[in-house]
Amino acid sequence: MRVTIIGGGILGTAHALEAVQRGHRVTHLERELEARGATVRNFGLVWVSGRAEHELAAALRSRELWEQIGARIPGVGFRPAGSLTLLRTPREIAVAEQVAARADAEARGFEVVDPDRIRALNPALRGKYLAGLHCSRDGAVESRQAMPAIRAHLEATGRYEFLPGTEARSVDGTAVRDDRGGRHDGDLVLVCPGAAHGGLTREIAGELPVRRVRLQMMQTDPLDEPLTTAIADGDSFRYYPGFAGSALDALRDDEPQDPVAAAGRMQLLCVQRLHGGLTIGDTHEYDEPFAFDLDSAPYDYLVALVEEFLGRPLPAVRRRWAGVYSQCVDPAQLVSRTEASDGVMVITGPGGRGMTLGPAIAEQTADLINL
Ligand SMILES: Cc1cc2nc3c(=O)[nH]c(=O)nc-3n(C[C@H](O)[C@H](O)[C@H](O)COP(=O)(O)OP(=O)(O)OC[C@H]3O[C@@H](n4cnc5c(N)ncnc54)[C@H](O)[C@@H]3O)c2cc1C
Repeated sequence: MRVTIIGGGILGTAHALEAVQRGHRVTHLERELEARGATVRNFGLVWVSGRAEHELAAALRSRELWEQIGARIPGVGFRPAGSLTLLRTPREIAVAEQVAARADAEARGFEVVDPDRIRALNPALRGKYLAGLHCSRDGAVESRQAMPAIRAHLEATGRYEFLPGTEARSVDGTAVRDDRGGRHDGDLVLVCPGAAHGGLTREIAGELPVRRVRLQMMQTDPLDEPLTTAIADGDSFRYYPGFAGSALDALRDDEPQDPVAAAGRMQLLCVQRLHGGLTIGDTHEYDEPFAFDLDSAPYDYLVALVEEFLGRPLPAVRRRWAGVYSQCVDPAQLVSRTEASDGVMVITGPGGRGMTLGPAIAEQTADLINL
């Protein structure tokens, strides 16, 4: 089959990989010269730990797929580094103990660990914390280099063409017209527009059951030592459905977040890039219109928190940015898949887990439509 894919983020790219692997030819349109949406603005975390029960199998499958993709395409930078959620209060420890006692704890690689074990797992963590939740199944990829690396691999098959700087403007049957006057005929069109819910997406699929979320992020100069695992703080328990339970309810009731963290709906996630710098975030803004500028208070808060965990000053913060992802409003769905017309499907809304789940979502789509 000839498959036309619109959108060069992880969803479009993972669907292209899946289609080519299944023997099809792919024409891939991206309106920017390089993917510019959530995919290149994220942490690159392949985050199994906090997934809800109904998402866990897909998250584990996706991690397995990322591992295979990483072995075939070293440029994606997959590493099975695991994560440590650092806990600062007895209530946070109670949440960790509750999830570590559940039946699925082994599948997630959960273990509650003391400060000595934390330092053995990640010697850079010489600061203050009471305990940690280790998740050995979490991993990371290098988001900014992964898309070009996957595309180079696909181009080598001779059955893949990437058209950067080419915006899809209309879909007529399964023919796609772009803003350069090109027409792309095929048997199937997969539209993966990310948070671009208007324009072409609205025209062909109407209002989708999705909303947008904006996050603030930063990156430091290289740290002069390895941060061997990703790290998170106990506030992350509040944002991931996998931690729901009576202990989390008690934490919410008895321990309000720090006012800056509460105002910015914040959690700490931090991962070391291959070049040594730390990617640190994040905030959550749910109400549009979003701010177009960056708020400094969350950055100061996060720097102080990472310094507390590392027990040393952070390297200089060199970059700050915001990103917007599309999130399906039905928590039971991993993603929103809408059949816009015969042979035309719009796929978006993986929320804050699209990098984690991209390969599994593409595999599921392919199985669903017998690709
Ligand atoms: C700050 C931040 C941190 C995150 N951290 C993580 C994380 O660590 N782990 C995780 O699992 N998830 C994370 N996420 C979520 C994840 O990044 C997203 O779910 C995922 O990247 C969405 O991928 P996508 O391909 O759907 O969208 P995008 O990456 O936004 O890609 C869509 C692409 O489509 C293009 N496009 C749109 N319309 C057209 C058109 N008409 N013609 C041609 N091209 C078009 C756009 O230019 C864009 O490049 C994070 C998100 C953000 C914003």
